[in-house]
Amino acid sequence: MTQDELVRLERQGATAVLTMNRPRYRNAQNSAMTYALDSAFTEAVNDDSVAVIVLAGAGEHFSAGHDIGSPGRDVEKSFERRAVLWWDHVGRSGADQRYAREMEVYLGMCRRWRELPKPTIAMVQGACLAGGLMLAWVCDLIIAAEDAYFADPVVRMGIPGVEYFAHPWTLGPRFAKEILFTGDRFDARRAYEVGMVNRVVPRAELHSHTLGLAQRIAEMPRFGLALTKRAVNQAEDLMGMRSAMDAAFGLHHLAHAHNAEVAGDPLAGMDAASMKARSGS
Ligand code: ZN
Repeated sequence: MTQDELVRLERQGATAVLTMNRPRYRNAQNSAMTYALDSAFTEAVNDDSVAVIVLAGAGEHFSAGHDIGSPGRDVEKSFERRAVLWWDHVGRSGADQRYAREMEVYLGMCRRWRELPKPTIAMVQGACLAGGLMLAWVCDLIIAAEDAYFADPVVRMGIPGVEYFAHPWTLGPRFAKEILFTGDRFDARRAYEVGMVNRVVPRAELHSHTLGLAQRIAEMPRFGLALTKRAVNQAEDLMGMRSAMDAAFGLHHLAHAHNAEVAGDPLAGMDAASMKARSGS
């Protein structure tokens, strides 16, 4: 499958809609899709006719998270590095390998996308799980369908949350702890109540509602939007988000290393199916 097919880029007026396109695997994020997404974001930023970027997932679900089990899993593959200045993970071993890879394709890419100079809107239906949360969280706004549901169950692997540790900022510290401690799902309404999503709309109206909002934003001054986005992001960072995320990333890798040492596998022997089985859902 080509990069274009992994992520579709369509223009609707002044809005670029980027659609993750692995519906058979609930848009599980492998590296090929990560780099295709980065290319599509770059193209949308460089296209002067685009004012707002919408991130969507093809099919019934937004994203099942990082690819930890599909036939397209490609953790051993090299890609041209774009997010951080670090060596390639391929050919490395242990924490050296994991740290390099996750800093590039997870934490680094998410930070890069959060800083895009154009407003971004995540349009979320169905599952938005673990790594899928990271993709929604890097967007400025999140519009959820009534059937959307969210969870970060990686504490079941003994890992303290996904790599882009925005949980305390997007959920509030107390609800963040609840969903991490239990691994439980929460629905779109609960996500709205805690301020994680901007709006909840019927599934049938998700596309039109999101595109309508994007069009309204697109009518605002471009440079003003970019400066406003930066002002809010800088405020979040001054509230400690960036440095807390760096600290959490260290703990995340301590957990991977512990799993590798004790269970012989950084994911503690768990894939998507066994995570689901353990959750009983
Ligand atoms: Zn990880």
